[in-house]
Amino acid sequence: MKHHPVVLYIFLGLFFNLTASRKQVNFLNESKRLTHAIIQGEVRGNGSLPIEDRNSHLLVELRLTRDDRPQSIARTKIKLHNNSATRSFILHFKLKYPLSKMNPHNSYVLSAKIRNGENKLVYIGDLPVPVTERKEEKAKHLIINVIETPAWHSNIAKLDLLAYKVTQLGGTEEAFTSELYTNKKPGIYTCVVCNSTLFSSKHKYNSGTGWPSFYQVAVEGNVATNVDRKYGMTRTEVHCDKCKAHLGHVFDDGPAPTYMRYCINGVTLQFYDDKNEMK
Ligand SMILES: [Zn+2]
Repeated sequence: MKHHPVVLYIFLGLFFNLTASRKQVNFLNESKRLTHAIIQGEVRGNGSLPIEDRNSHLLVELRLTRDDRPQSIARTKIKLHNNSATRSFILHFKLKYPLSKMNPHNSYVLSAKIRNGENKLVYIGDLPVPVTERKEEKAKHLIINVIETPAWHSNIAKLDLLAYKVTQLGGTEEAFTSELYTNKKPGIYTCVVCNSTLFSSKHKYNSGTGWPSFYQVAVEGNVATNVDRKYGMTRTEVHCDKCKAHLGHVFDDGPAPTYMRYCINGVTLQFYDDKNEMK
């Protein structure tokens, strides 16, 4: 089982500790009209927050974590003020989420993230939430450590609108619009967000679909997949394992030897000439 990168980041920095506790989970009464549940809790800090301006905030988010691909269910943003930057502080939050989005087979995480005025992530922490238990639960504690924002994180803000929509929101570029579709030069294709090596010209072929197509990935493990049931179809979504950027889909109607067809949005890729990748 893979860990969401957020969980990994927790081990990267060890400078401060924050604790978040879920004080209580109040579900609305067991009436037939039960539509929403409310989580109330607090994030406690033992350290000075780097509050630089009025845009510093705490984001508390309930996320679905199934298949290693986080999906936000509910979130609340709390503005931080200079008086919350003291060494010991408690920030209260209240999160309301629709039960219609809940599935007992999924797992959920409550995360607390603090961003400074430049929207840079400075604190982060996760707490697993057993959301299917509709009763009050005992408070649980969570250790949150300061993290270093991944170097690629600032690249997200620099993406053009289409690349943002495709990589961050799971969109699709129009067929036959990417100049990489007909690119036959030897080289490697990397992720437009984090520059991780994803595909090679060695495995590229003309699928006739209008999207750059490969019959295998360049580096095993750099590309991850997920079941996608959008639009009434069951497809296998493909994303960058490192930064979770959506890339496209994979189908089993490709050529030998793998018979796979990685159908990739060109806008998610950067191409680098490299004669070593000659077929
Ligand atoms: Zn990436």
